[in-house]
Amino acid sequence: MIQLFLPLNFLGFVYREIRRALTDLENMLGLLKRAPEIVDTADAMPLTIAQGNIVFNKVDFGYQSERPILQQLSFNVPAGSKVAIVGASGAGKSTIARLLYRFYSIDGGSIYIDGQDISTLTLDSLRRAIAIVPQDTVLFNNSIRDNIRYGRPAASEAEIDQAIELAHLRSFIDSLPQGDATVVGERGLKVSGGEKQRIAIARAILKKSPILLFDEATSALDSSSEQAILQAMREVARNHTSLVIAHRLSTITDADNIIVLKNGQLAEQGSHDVLLAANGEYARMWQLQQKQQR
Ligand code: ADP
Ligand code: MG
Repeated sequence: MIQLFLPLNFLGFVYREIRRALTDLENMLGLLKRAPEIVDTADAMPLTIAQGNIVFNKVDFGYQSERPILQQLSFNVPAGSKVAIVGASGAGKSTIARLLYRFYSIDGGSIYIDGQDISTLTLDSLRRAIAIVPQDTVLFNNSIRDNIRYGRPAASEAEIDQAIELAHLRSFIDSLPQGDATVVGERGLKVSGGEKQRIAIARAILKKSPILLFDEATSALDSSSEQAILQAMREVARNHTSLVIAHRLSTITDADNIIVLKNGQLAEQGSHDVLLAANGEYARMWQLQQKQQR
């Protein structure tokens, strides 16, 4: 009886954990309502990832058919580069992240990763290739170490330690009496926004995905915690293709390319210097934010 009871109880635990992980992912991406169920097509193929080159080709998308959000949006993120997406709130930045992760199907155009149309791929292989650091990370009522492990449950202990180092979490963890066994989350230790985001970055590092997506990962932080996170983000991004959605322009001036989104359309793109010289939308946003800082 006891023998039967234990595994069943364990399965229940696993089931609840999976449900919670899915809910967490939806929260992460700010999905208010449940996204329509996206499933693999009958002939879906696993993604063969080479370098992690992303292409959006004339993408049209709306949450409701009568209200288009993205219109004929084309851009690419060359493998290994860092591309930033900026634009006013509501411009469609997070929508781009949700479409890349295929929480929704697009209405027109195509999205490719390494030349493969993502609508033809298995969801599992697609989502394994992309690690997301959202604006507001949800921590489980679990140890810090298990919260990081969630990035890739099969990771080794050594890999978890390495992720802790890379995310600049070591000194924080060492300052806690119970170290990385400290329970966090709603019923555990209250961690600061900056610490939480570093846990999210450690998770993303552990996932070892070729593509990293940061969706306003630092916008809820004060500028001193922001600097620490930006440093960690830069180190991690070095070996990845990274797409950085940002509100504060000062955080993405080093991007290889900056895409300025306005009402779901590409308004302009270029490096920080090129866009400032162009004296358009980006330059206007930059001047406004500089003024607000002073
Ligand atoms: P950003 O990240 O640039 O602030 P979003 O991509 O989140 O903007 O949103 C773009 C537009 O899509 C907004 O007008 C927003 O209200 C709308 N939107 C976002 N999510 C949904 C949803 N689940 N259902 C309907 N409309 C949505
Ligand atoms: Mg957003």
